[in-house]
Amino acid sequence: MSVSNSELIYFDNNGTTKLCNEAIKEVTKWLSNYGNPSTDCKLANKSKEMINCGKNYILKHCGVNSNNYSVIFTSGATESNCFILRSMSSAYQKINKQKPHIIISAIEHPSIMACCKSLYDNKCIDLTYILPQSDGSIDPMDVKDAIKKNTCLISIMFANNETGTINNIEEIGKIAKQRKIPFHSDTVQIFGKMRLNIPKYNLDAISVSFHKFYSPLGIGLLIINNNLVNEYQLEGIINGTQQGGLRGGTESVPNIAGAIKGMNVNFINRPIKNKKLKELKLKCIEELEKYWPIIYYEDFDNKQIKNKFDDVLVIIGSKTNCLPNTLLLSFVSFKSKICNTQLKKTLESKYNIIVAVGSACSTKSKLASHVLTNMNASDEIKRGVIRISFGDYNKLKEVTKFVKCYVSAINEQI
Ligand code: PLP
Repeated sequence: MSVSNSELIYFDNNGTTKLCNEAIKEVTKWLSNYGNPSTDCKLANKSKEMINCGKNYILKHCGVNSNNYSVIFTSGATESNCFILRSMSSAYQKINKQKPHIIISAIEHPSIMACCKSLYDNKCIDLTYILPQSDGSIDPMDVKDAIKKNTCLISIMFANNETGTINNIEEIGKIAKQRKIPFHSDTVQIFGKMRLNIPKYNLDAISVSFHKFYSPLGIGLLIINNNLVNEYQLEGIINGTQQGGLRGGTESVPNIAGAIKGMNVNFINRPIKNKKLKELKLKCIEELEKYWPIIYYEDFDNKQIKNKFDDVLVIIGSKTNCLPNTLLLSFVSFKSKICNTQLKKTLESKYNIIVAVGSACSTKSKLASHVLTNMNASDEIKRGVIRISFGDYNKLKEVTKFVKCYVSAINEQI
């Protein structure tokens, strides 16, 4: 099947999303305002006011206010994640004169994995990785059991960017509160899909990236509990006087304006939009099932399946607790060797369809996904995996077309 010159079908919305028109207009408007919020003049005051209003809007949206929490704008969630890990561990060491211990899951985003590895390799922290269960979720009891006397931070992602599995953050938050341990969550994949009430989850800090929900690239934030900042006298990782000394560097005013507008627009009719995302995902599964049997990884038994089928589609991620838009799919063939990067290339070059393999941020990497590795996935599963992540601009007819092209691309390989 050839569909050259067709319109692009973009199914990598967990990687990044198309900017909404309202955000483009807002960024464009603010590009011509050169008022630096760190200075004091009419132009600067306009920028300052916009940033302050934006911070208050975000805090209110999360069920907190500026008396108890602060918003720190960053270059993205990568920086926010590194900020909390590095500043908490160095403050703990300074105050307690003891090496701090950090608990993370083994399926965190590469920014958390790499930052913790660097801190550990430099002997700055003790580190515990919590392995996921077969549905890709973290068992809160494993987190509880990992707590030590010197645990200075628990950092567990809300929803995984590859599998889409949503963790039981409420339960982990209760445990952290009981044991009086600061609790951070990388909320990048969930923030744009639900109103995140910070007190409900006992969260002390969250990382957010705006380009995951129709807002500009290169802008993110860390929302942090003021008690944590004061008690630990936290220092930022980029020095300077801006943003209360916690994040140096002149604020990216147009990006902040566009981010707030994009967030605003994204949350209009969000439950209806989420329902539509779920419909796209269910339609995709329904169409694929016409060609091959589908089995969830949590029910997957390699030996049994091998005796029954030559080829099978495996969905990796929780059946019940998953992002509405995410489908991590592996074509498992016991007869032929499937190559997911080749599959991705064919879909893109021949059919104009964009999907991801593994983590969007590591698509260029030859290394297999650490998420699948830590879920104990077999080589067959790793070889055939692609991630489909739908967005608000996708349509049902794109799903039907994708399935036809996917079947052709697979048939080219087997
Ligand atoms: N955390 C998660 C779960 C992500 O999916 C990503 C990006 O894919 C990031 C962090 C990094 O965000 P940013 O691109 O804003 O640095």
